[in-house]
Amino acid sequence: MKTLLLTTLGTLVILGGFTLLRETSGRAQHSGPRSAQEAMAMETREHESYSGSGYDLTPLDRKRIEALAENLTDDERRIMLDQGTEPSFCGGLLSNKGTGAYTCRLCGLPLFKSEAKFESGTGWPSFYEPFDPAHIRSLRDQSGGMVRTEIQCARCRSHLGHVFDDGPKPTGLRYCLNSAALKFYAEGAELPPESRPLQIETAYFAGGCFWGIEDLFQKVPGVIEAVSGYQGGKLPDPDYRQVCSGSSGHAESVRLSYDPNQVTYRQLLEWFFKFHDPTQLNRQGPDVGTQYRSAIFAADKGQLAEAKAYIEGLQGSQRLGGRKIVTVVEQVGPFYEAEEYHQDYHAKHGGSCALPQ
Ligand SMILES: [Zn+2]
Repeated sequence: MKTLLLTTLGTLVILGGFTLLRETSGRAQHSGPRSAQEAMAMETREHESYSGSGYDLTPLDRKRIEALAENLTDDERRIMLDQGTEPSFCGGLLSNKGTGAYTCRLCGLPLFKSEAKFESGTGWPSFYEPFDPAHIRSLRDQSGGMVRTEIQCARCRSHLGHVFDDGPKPTGLRYCLNSAALKFYAEGAELPPESRPLQIETAYFAGGCFWGIEDLFQKVPGVIEAVSGYQGGKLPDPDYRQVCSGSSGHAESVRLSYDPNQVTYRQLLEWFFKFHDPTQLNRQGPDVGTQYRSAIFAADKGQLAEAKAYIEGLQGSQRLGGRKIVTVVEQVGPFYEAEEYHQDYHAKHGGSCALPQ
């Protein structure tokens, strides 16, 4: 389970393509859900990855790095792109005592906070911990006849410096930086977009067994996290047994955290209606009961209106052969995360729910 995206999410690899999403209301009407899934796997997109603190860590391609590097001075380029080191006691940020954030000079990713800066006496800016461990990449470095641990920016892979294990408490680490690899933003200063966390949005879908829906949505580009849970019932904090019995009134549901710059709510709706059969009342294939009902829990009025309009359009199309859509659309209520063993079930156990034909 990629629980709380902002605390434990590591690297999430997603394969898929956007092209199919955009043609679902047109030419692709003939394609059933199975072909959607196949097409999603056919087109490999650049690996997406996000940090626990909500930053986009998707590696930058060579072209983008070259474009950004045009803003570097010769010294900065030598240090960041050619693994150089600035002379000690010469860097501009060595004695900086301001409160704020230190970002990667090339790509803007926040790397360190001023709170973790300390005077190491080495002549290079030193920190005892990174802004987010996922923002720093560590590599074994045997250059110069020494064995050291090089540190790079996780997003643009630029050289930053090295990390040593002779730092102060609480980590005992000393991140030794080149000033030239950093840019400092004082607290309160406006950060550029590349230095800000993603504006993450949430959506909720119930379409039968949550193992399958969660697994399929995990593969959609732009979906950062999918969590299985229970929603739409009366009993507070239900467990699986209560939901299974049908007495709690909840549906097996999936909560999505997504990057609206990568995938829109409309596109999520398109996937949802490919991932399950919205014409089956209180069941999906062999799974029968109100807990397997088709439902959308709208996070706000915009989603509510968009979901209703989408269903209306889909009902009017030929795709479902005139069968009536029974999907319930309602305002979101409490979402209760399912037990740990339900999370990432397909990823852990293999297989995938059968998709409707
Ligand atoms: Zn960077």
